[in-house]
Amino acid sequence: MENITIKINGVEVSAPKGSTILEAARIAHIKIPTLCYLKEINEIGACRICVVEVKGAKSLVASCVYPINEGMEVWTNTPKVLDSRRKTLQLILSTHRRECLSCVRSGNCELQQLCHELKVDDENKYEGAMPEKCMLDTSAAHMIRDNSKCILCRRCSAVCENVQGVGVIGANARGFNTYIGQAFDMGLGDTSCVSCGQCIAVCPTGALTEKDCTDEVFAAIADPTKHVFVQTAPSVRAALGEEFGLPIGTNVEGRMVAALRRLGFEKVFDTDFAADLTIMEEANEFLGRVQNGGVLPMITSCSPGWIKYCEHYFPDMTENLSSCKSPQQMFGAVLKTYYAEKAGIDPKDIVSVSVMPCTAKKFEIGRDDQDAAGVPDVDIALTTRELARMIKRIGLDFTELPDEKFDDPLGESTGAAVIFGATGGVMEAALRTAVEKLTGETLASLDFKEVRGIEGIKEATYNVAGMDVNVAVASGLGNARALLNKVKNGEASYHFIEIMGCPGGCVNGGGQPQQPGTVRNFTDIRSLRAKALYDQDAAMPVRKSHENPSIIKLYDEYLGEPGSHKAHEILHTTYVKRKVNQ
Ligand code: SF4
Ligand code: SF4
Ligand code: SF4
Repeated sequence: MENITIKINGVEVSAPKGSTILEAARIAHIKIPTLCYLKEINEIGACRICVVEVKGAKSLVASCVYPINEGMEVWTNTPKVLDSRRKTLQLILSTHRRECLSCVRSGNCELQQLCHELKVDDENKYEGAMPEKCMLDTSAAHMIRDNSKCILCRRCSAVCENVQGVGVIGANARGFNTYIGQAFDMGLGDTSCVSCGQCIAVCPTGALTEKDCTDEVFAAIADPTKHVFVQTAPSVRAALGEEFGLPIGTNVEGRMVAALRRLGFEKVFDTDFAADLTIMEEANEFLGRVQNGGVLPMITSCSPGWIKYCEHYFPDMTENLSSCKSPQQMFGAVLKTYYAEKAGIDPKDIVSVSVMPCTAKKFEIGRDDQDAAGVPDVDIALTTRELARMIKRIGLDFTELPDEKFDDPLGESTGAAVIFGATGGVMEAALRTAVEKLTGETLASLDFKEVRGIEGIKEATYNVAGMDVNVAVASGLGNARALLNKVKNGEASYHFIEIMGCPGGCVNGGGQPQQPGTVRNFTDIRSLRAKALYDQDAAMPVRKSHENPSIIKLYDEYLGEPGSHKAHEILHTTYVKRKVNQ
């Protein structure tokens, strides 16, 4: 690629043609602060925090969108620049409800960090009237929006519209009274929001948060009449460490298990067990559809964000969805039936807690037809962030905890299960089982590399027992929409599709630790977290779901065989066709 040379603060910098000043500065190890900017998502140059001086320009320019030219001279550190940034922050603070001592984002708030870095120590400078619409929206099952902490950066509406293709939130009203909301002031919970939480993941302040259930969990643990069990999803272990200062992509499975035990959970189980179970049921369902002329393409059903999207935006394709419950729900169902029976516990006395990378799981636990034992399969769904808060609250020195193992039998899993957390992982896990079932032969290689990687849409064809099986993988709902439109228009034909609601899959879920724009814009956090899972898979002694000894025992002792009547009653579910409300 052609490089051009500019000067930043008097020093020559060579950067690829087409770079912005922000990107060129990064090459020269100069950090220009940003706030509204998110690479490829929100490039609107609106907040003016990233302003710099350019020789010949009449006014300061927004470096995040300003392209470099040969010979350009830029200053990022003049009094004029620093004063402008500080004034911008002071103005933002004038309409910001400042409760930094208790705010959930304190210590991890991009606004707070910028005020600190730019020495905004006169935060009341422009104090005056507050905008009219400083209201709280608590209508959704998964999240709360507090507009009194919103800085109108529009990252949330950009990710909802441009990445997820949902577009239920945006700027309402004008000027001073502008606020983020829904059309006609509907509650978010009354719209076609799919609960993915991608807006929370990108929000720089405490304006968007998941509904916090940590107090509920502490109360359940303290109740001597309750048996409180916990399951943790695959991608939680690949990201939880970030909350404790560990590098992105550190696998903290052992320390996470130790922390959960010290929090007081009776047993610490692994959602990976249920991921293996999902593969048993899903592979069986897929083979049945292929052999008996069922509805194809079959589409995976692990991601509740995707499921709600399908119900709203592709209701005519709900028959294509696998009827398998998600691993979270399968786990809860097995816990309150098979495990409860074996342990002699009344399911009504069980509190089934999950830790998920996901906010849509908070919506999912309240869906119909998710109550195999007559009580909800899962009672409380926490995010990775909420688990981190619990660990911090009881003062555990997380990084120093020993590595401990999950409890048996619902803690036993395979390499196929752990890769569920990355886009393409469910497809790869299913192929490992389906191909061996169809051919009756042992696979020479378990790595289906064509479906790995963070590309939004991946396609592959595998010849299995003489039949070409066309598969596709999409992550992020905008990509899902593009893929499904191709299917509907007859431009593509697949047998099996994996769709995950979040870009990159659950590793990048809406409940994962929030990384600031300064990291997100320059680091591929999805690949780093996914690598932690693929490395774990490669190192595991058993890498195929159908070889998980505890799963084999579950079928022998309780379910019979995949797709049995009992398996259907406990492990499968139904969907609804919803309207679009936006
Ligand atoms: S809610 Fe958060 S992401 Fe959305 S505009 Fe406000 S501060 Fe920005
Ligand atoms: S949760 Fe997802 S769908 Fe709902 S508003 Fe946020 S980004 Fe949009
Ligand atoms: S991709 Fe994962 S984190 Fe995102 S909505 Fe689906 S299950 Fe939740």
